Amino acid sequence: MFLKPDYIFSDLTQLKPEHLENIGVKGLIFDLDNTLLPPHTHQLQAYVAQWLQTMQDAGFPYIVVSNNKDVAYLKQAEHLLNVPVLGPARKPSTRMIKQAIAWLKLSPETVAVVGDRPLTDLWSGQRAGCKTILVDPLMRANERGIIHLLRTLERLPVSVPKHTKAHLHSL
Ligand SMILES: [Mg+2]
Repeated sequence: MFLKPDYIFSDLTQLKPEHLENIGVKGLIFDLDNTLLPPHTHQLQAYVAQWLQTMQDAGFPYIVVSNNKDVAYLKQAEHLLNVPVLGPARKPSTRMIKQAIAWLKLSPETVAVVGDRPLTDLWSGQRAGCKTILVDPLMRANERGIIHLLRTLERLPVSVPKHTKAHLHSL
């Protein structure tokens, strides 16, 4: 199994409309925890909200697919983000990724799945025929040592991005 993200960014907000245009992407599927929201905070950070608005203004619709099993939390996130939050999704299952693609009314190859977890987010996106973008988790600095180690190990099967090496950071 090889994971080949189209881009890797250390910060979600480094992703710009021109990156998406370069790879023919017209819409986005975001992971929730540690991609859009810091886990357990139930808060959308202002700079992330502003970035989402920029992407929306640039004409990129988006939807969220989460593995979080807390349905009340997912509802709250939906209210916070003002877009559907599908879940619990059991990624790397592609079922809800496919639902999200249908909601976007786009073909899979014009959709990018954006997330912090290679084995769930990237793998589900790749299997569904989407482009994939790996971002560093929002709260990486606060993670406990063992989680940090597991994340590092999880990234080992990730190859260099297909379209740019400029944004490559330590894996
Ligand atoms: Mg995540």
